Amino acid sequence: GHYSKEDIYKLMDENDVTFIRLQFTDITGMMKNVAITKNQLKKALNNQCVFDGSSLDGFARDAESDMCLHPDRDTFTMLPWRPTHDGVARFICDVYSPDGEPYDGDPRRILKKEMKKAEELGIEFNVGPECEFFLFEMDDYGRPTTQTRDTAGYFDLGSIDIGGDIRREICLTLESMGFEVEASHHEAAVGQHEIDFKYDTALKTADNIMTFKMAVKSMAKASGGYATFMPKPRSDVSGSGMHLHMSLMRDGKNLFDGPDDPSGNGLSETAYRFMAGLLAHARALTAVCNPTVNSYKRLASGYEAPVHITWSCRNRSPLVRIPSSRGKGARIEFRSPDPSANPYLMLACCLAAGLDGVEKKMTPPPATDCDLFDLPEEKINEMGIETLPLSLIDAMEALKSDPVIANVLGGHALHNFLLEKEREWARYTRAVTDWEIENYLQKY
Ligand code: GLU
Ligand code: MG
Ligand code: MG
Repeated sequence: GHYSKEDIYKLMDENDVTFIRLQFTDITGMMKNVAITKNQLKKALNNQCVFDGSSLDGFARDAESDMCLHPDRDTFTMLPWRPTHDGVARFICDVYSPDGEPYDGDPRRILKKEMKKAEELGIEFNVGPECEFFLFEMDDYGRPTTQTRDTAGYFDLGSIDIGGDIRREICLTLESMGFEVEASHHEAAVGQHEIDFKYDTALKTADNIMTFKMAVKSMAKASGGYATFMPKPRSDVSGSGMHLHMSLMRDGKNLFDGPDDPSGNGLSETAYRFMAGLLAHARALTAVCNPTVNSYKRLASGYEAPVHITWSCRNRSPLVRIPSSRGKGARIEFRSPDPSANPYLMLACCLAAGLDGVEKKMTPPPATDCDLFDLPEEKINEMGIETLPLSLIDAMEALKSDPVIANVLGGHALHNFLLEKEREWARYTRAVTDWEIENYLQKY
């Protein structure tokens, strides 16, 4: 840790803090808050803030609904979009039972547990996300729409990029919160943007993703608009992904770098094995990395989102792409995840999948360097190429039948996750959609 309790008291004074939000993430990836005032800070820092967790999605078992929040002092940050006088600070917390036992359904704990296993092998897991989202307009009643006046496209700038000013404000705010923003640009679709911040260890990155979403939504709202991380809000344009750039480090050395790679890709044996693990567990990972009904509208679309379980150094359609940078920057890019995923569970499961490949010395299938979207389905089947699950329910089945990934969630979180998602699927299959009305109402 970096901040002592004394440091925290000082930071509170210096920043004129009156309100403190204690944050954590539920199983479906929603950020939850308990707000306290400064006079409760001592209690909070002594891990004595208790709340009733019984009505949170996928959280407490009824019998033990009281939960205790342990603030991680190093996650202190101001919420700059709140007033500067009597300001608001936040901590991300670990969830414990009142008798001091870590709560095993806490997604942050699930990630910490996987990272601990890597640590025992002397390995650090680094991840850099590419965060895509849409900025849409509100209607006259203040309700979010899927409309935008923006007409810009990939990397466009200037007056047609209406979101440009909001994106600028978002980037400045993120930097004031300690983010190192590496790039931001307009994405391919109208109203779609991407902001990339610097990679970090998996836990820090998962925390950052949660903070990022909160900041983007708050800033968009402050400017009269609306930000959504829904994977596929419009069927006519690309969806939003959250590509993950991954590497392993030991003693400050990037384990994925392989200058002597006989195939000339510059990757190490460890990198290939890790990638093979991701590919081998890809179908189960989809349940966690693409956990909404809507996620599968993106994955099936062909709008630069992966469909097949393949890898390549050359083209952009495969599930795993190898970016060109080597040496310290050697890494693999996992392209299926979308921003509706719970980042803690997502990174925990990706790490477990990759390490399983390393441990079992898996070999990836040969690279697929052609654009699969140009090939007929029979040809793809002939090549023995598998596809990602086509729906949330298929992905749930894949998760249930993959003990490596299921075990990451463990009994409690797995049970709650499946329960939540099976309910979601049931509600969805019973809903009569706009598409059905459009296509069937007059026809039949
Ligand atoms: N928006 C695309 C997706 O759904 C990705 C575009 C890109 O390559 O950045 O994954
Ligand atoms: Mg992108
Ligand atoms: Mg990418």
